[in-house]
Amino acid sequence: MTQLRADLHMHSHCSDGALSPSQLMQRAKENGVELIALTDHDTTAGLEEARREAETLNLSFVNGVELSSRWGKIGVHIVGLGFDAGHPAMLELLERQGERRRSRNQQIEAKLAKIGVVNAYAQASELAGGEPGRPHFAQVLVEQGKVPDVARAFKKYLGAGKSCDIKLIWPPMAEVVEAVVAASGVAVLAHPAKYGLTRTKLRALIGDFASAGGEAIELVSGMQPSGVAESLALLASEFNLDASLGSDFHKPGAAWQELGGATHLPAGVRAVWQRWH
Ligand code: MN
Ligand code: MN
Ligand code: MN
Repeated sequence: MTQLRADLHMHSHCSDGALSPSQLMQRAKENGVELIALTDHDTTAGLEEARREAETLNLSFVNGVELSSRWGKIGVHIVGLGFDAGHPAMLELLERQGERRRSRNQQIEAKLAKIGVVNAYAQASELAGGEPGRPHFAQVLVEQGKVPDVARAFKKYLGAGKSCDIKLIWPPMAEVVEAVVAASGVAVLAHPAKYGLTRTKLRALIGDFASAGGEAIELVSGMQPSGVAESLALLASEFNLDASLGSDFHKPGAAWQELGGATHLPAGVRAVWQRWH
């Protein structure tokens, strides 16, 4: 059986991606994608444009979003799929996520001011064309001559535990999963292998995720070492979860993953998209 070519994780310029929602849909179509979800960080602003373009291209489209949360002290991303974007539970969650992001950005600006970076929030907002994220602040550090490149900005100032890093501000994972479910969506645990957890911790995380109402995990996220999908498939089966996958595409030319490039699910898993396709 040929597998459906799906890509259920990607970012547009509505969050930290480089392309517009329409450009993403066009690029995915060119790459042979058949079912797609746009999953910007904590915003659904691009969904309408993406859906319209997908319809024009005859590409099956599912609403998506990538939500920041925390599991204990660990930052965890939850992808919401197929939800009602106008549902009060989703609107309220996104409003609170936005407030958290703005509050964090004000704190980052205050930290950066202490090392002589001026007007960081405004400059980062301009670069972002909206609410900035850490990569935009990193760019500000480069533009103000504090560091030679973005990588150095994270390494010296903005990365975890560095002087201008603001610790986790996100709501508990269960709360985020519950909001997605309340909005008639499917909650998917994003890139489970990327949290740096031991197998024991990862099992505990997935167990808590499933108990909260989570229904699927990403077995494939961008480029990953061989064996990761198969190993995650065992956990999906243990907790009776569906399988999802996505490129986590952010911009062309990155040595990461092209749109539609992550398509292979291990044998024997239940694909999350069976409910939409
Ligand atoms: Mn991102
Ligand atoms: Mn993520
Ligand atoms: Mn992502």
